[in-house]
Amino acid sequence: MLDNDRLAAWDRESFFHPSTHLAAHARGDTPGRIMTGGKGVFVEDRDGTRLLDGFAGLYCVNVGYGRPEIAEAIAGQARELAYYHAYVGHGTEASIRLAHMVTERAPANMSKVYFGLGGSDANETNVKLVWYYNNVLGRPQKKKIISRWRGYHGSGLMTGSLTGLELFHKAFDLPMPGILHTEAPYYFRRANPAQSEAEFTAACVAALEEMIAREGADTIAAFIGEPVLGTGGLVPPPAGYWEAIGAVLERHDILLIADEVVTGFGRVGSMFGSDHYGMRPDIITIAKGLTSAYAPLSGSIVSERMWKVLEQGTDAMGPIGHGWTYSAHPIGAAAGVANLELIDRLGLVENARDTGAYLRAAMTDALGAHPNLGDIRGEGMLCALEFVADRDTRRFLDPALKTGPAVAAALLRHGVIGRAMPQGDILGFAPPLCLSREEADTIVAATHAAVTEVFPGR
Ligand code: PMP
Repeated sequence: MLDNDRLAAWDRESFFHPSTHLAAHARGDTPGRIMTGGKGVFVEDRDGTRLLDGFAGLYCVNVGYGRPEIAEAIAGQARELAYYHAYVGHGTEASIRLAHMVTERAPANMSKVYFGLGGSDANETNVKLVWYYNNVLGRPQKKKIISRWRGYHGSGLMTGSLTGLELFHKAFDLPMPGILHTEAPYYFRRANPAQSEAEFTAACVAALEEMIAREGADTIAAFIGEPVLGTGGLVPPPAGYWEAIGAVLERHDILLIADEVVTGFGRVGSMFGSDHYGMRPDIITIAKGLTSAYAPLSGSIVSERMWKVLEQGTDAMGPIGHGWTYSAHPIGAAAGVANLELIDRLGLVENARDTGAYLRAAMTDALGAHPNLGDIRGEGMLCALEFVADRDTRRFLDPALKTGPAVAAALLRHGVIGRAMPQGDILGFAPPLCLSREEADTIVAATHAAVTEVFPGR
């Protein structure tokens, strides 16, 4: 094994890290660490430090680390047939079985799964599919996509455009033309403090209606949204939001893409967020929880209504001009089959609901009265704490103080990984769905200690 100094030097010399302050990393100023192992909800680094991973990697290791069932499925597939493509109707047993398992679990009207590699490329596929759909239907002008501020849909050219976070736009000349952003359904940060939740929801819906009227419904192909805003702050929607948005979209014949990269396969305590919140999507994006990140795999689940039009398109134009070399990669598919079996066998959807609720209740008991804690929220195995300067007036902290990152750093010193969400002073938790109550207590105790350190005397 290489010694730690040599490895750190090679890392600086050769490794271009994603989503990293490149200069700070070169100076040795990032919290980066070299990870070596994981078991259940714990990970370990090269120095032998063991940490409770309260964010499941990037909310993706849903079944927890070190599952031999998935490792064996991957090894078995690699030995038998590591790769074959899926073009012109080819497949493998693993990819066919996984497609079947996904559609069995998906909302009732969903019909077929296209497999990709990650969430970004799946959303790239989705935009192409809705454009194709409208071309087949003879309405080539119906192409714009509405996304939301604070939405996260990836970091490619199109998907970075859909993402509604400034960091992903400004330095890359994005968003691309034809991508629009509407209000984030973020009640805690509403501009008008006097608004009730129902009034706020109505205002979000009215803003969407205005955008559609301004642009013309005949120019808008689709609306994309995460059932629960993820990277934008872990924000469940206000009551009635998705039903009301869905009604507007249906009235204007605008497709709905539910980006369930985070919420799919149990994260919110239901198999899919779409079912949980009464969404009726035409496409569902899946990734992370599909394989619990044991291998890269994503998917676009399309509805029967959409599928019929896609079929019609190929009858008119020939094979669909879209596909990756690694679409439906057998190793990813084998991991996915073993992963979905585990989720069922261990009852992880139910555990996400029950232990997730326990985690938020325990967090509220420990910190609910803290003067700098403005909001504790979540759904299923998602929990966010939003820090403020003053909870009574809902005055936000100066972002320059970097309070959210300070709490996350203190938490790490207490042995727990949480994520300082990129916009606002928000500490996010999205532990593996197998979290136990004792492990939830560990997260809460460490969070209490970290918050006490960052806000001394409060
Ligand atoms: N959609 C959502 C909702 C996500 O949270 C993410 C990643 N965090 C993506 C898409 C992009 O996925 P990937 O990073 O695998 O490209």
